[in-house]
Amino acid sequence: WSQDTVAVVTGANRGIGLEIARQFAQSGITTILTARNEERGQSTLSLLKAEGLQNVAFHQLEVTDLKSAKDFSVWVKQQYGGLDILINNAAIVSRHYTDKRQGARDVIDTNYYGVKNVTNALLPLIRAGGRIVNVSSRLGLLQVSSYPVYHSFHLTLNNEKLKETISVQEGLSENLIDSFVSKFLEAVNKGENFQQGWPAVDFKGTGREAFFDYSVSKIALNAYTKLLAFQLSNKIHVNSFCPGATQTDMADGLGEKTVKEGADTGVWLALLAPSSNLPSGKFFAERVEIAF
Ligand code: NDP
Repeated sequence: WSQDTVAVVTGANRGIGLEIARQFAQSGITTILTARNEERGQSTLSLLKAEGLQNVAFHQLEVTDLKSAKDFSVWVKQQYGGLDILINNAAIVSRHYTDKRQGARDVIDTNYYGVKNVTNALLPLIRAGGRIVNVSSRLGLLQVSSYPVYHSFHLTLNNEKLKETISVQEGLSENLIDSFVSKFLEAVNKGENFQQGWPAVDFKGTGREAFFDYSVSKIALNAYTKLLAFQLSNKIHVNSFCPGATQTDMADGLGEKTVKEGADTGVWLALLAPSSNLPSGKFFAERVEIAF
């Protein structure tokens, strides 16, 4: 990896995205940080420059906006010719929404469709041997794994039929994942999501709705990661990872890991030395693969 290596990080103006961008820049890679808000992005750029990192650039990118993603990819092509590493980091939670239905729609739009928008716009520019790392969560696994818990309970998909749809590797398609999230949003609109067995996650005793939509968005993201890896058949390596409960705004100060620790597995995956058996389509946490 050298200055000729170009990395893009979404939602890099704060939290884990900012730290991943920082670590890339520190390792000498040309790093493009993106943010939906121009001012916040520019001030993050100044921050990194003030830390002595000169190999950084900024461009606006709202991941839910197809035009923004397209404009960004045109700019990347003009400025750099292509890229080597894409970190799909930007995401939201709906904890602060009073309208749960709107919150669920926005969570799915950002955390799942946002990743697809950006990936589709940039994929033609990603050079052979490139890496895509999707920042996901253990809340998006089909079985509850051991989690350094900061929630009191976590029920993942509690409906075998839904589980089967999303976990079957052979039949997996983008249409199938899209219809999976549509079914979820329909269930939320009818107020039937828990009855139907969609996830319930309690956040420090604040009730089962804390991450109910976020969990589905990350299940969809993990499935998409598998699908994309299959489609790209090792020309570009695609993986997802869980940073663990990290001290960022998203975790409302309740995370256990520093941002440096939270960013670690993502940076590690992106910078794994080229070899014939690099992982693709896998999910990791603390640098260890966990079954989806
Ligand atoms: P933060 O809330 O601190 O940061 C989220 C970032 O995403 C911000 O830069 C935010 O921009 C950006 N963002 C949100 N929506 C959009 C959008 N539509 N377009 C562009 N950028 C957007 O979160 P974290 O750093 O904690 O989270 C980073 C990743 O890690 C996420 O994928 C999250 O799901 C994952 N994760 C985090 C955990 C944790 O404990 N923190 C645990 C497990 C997973 P803005 O400042 O404009 O809002």
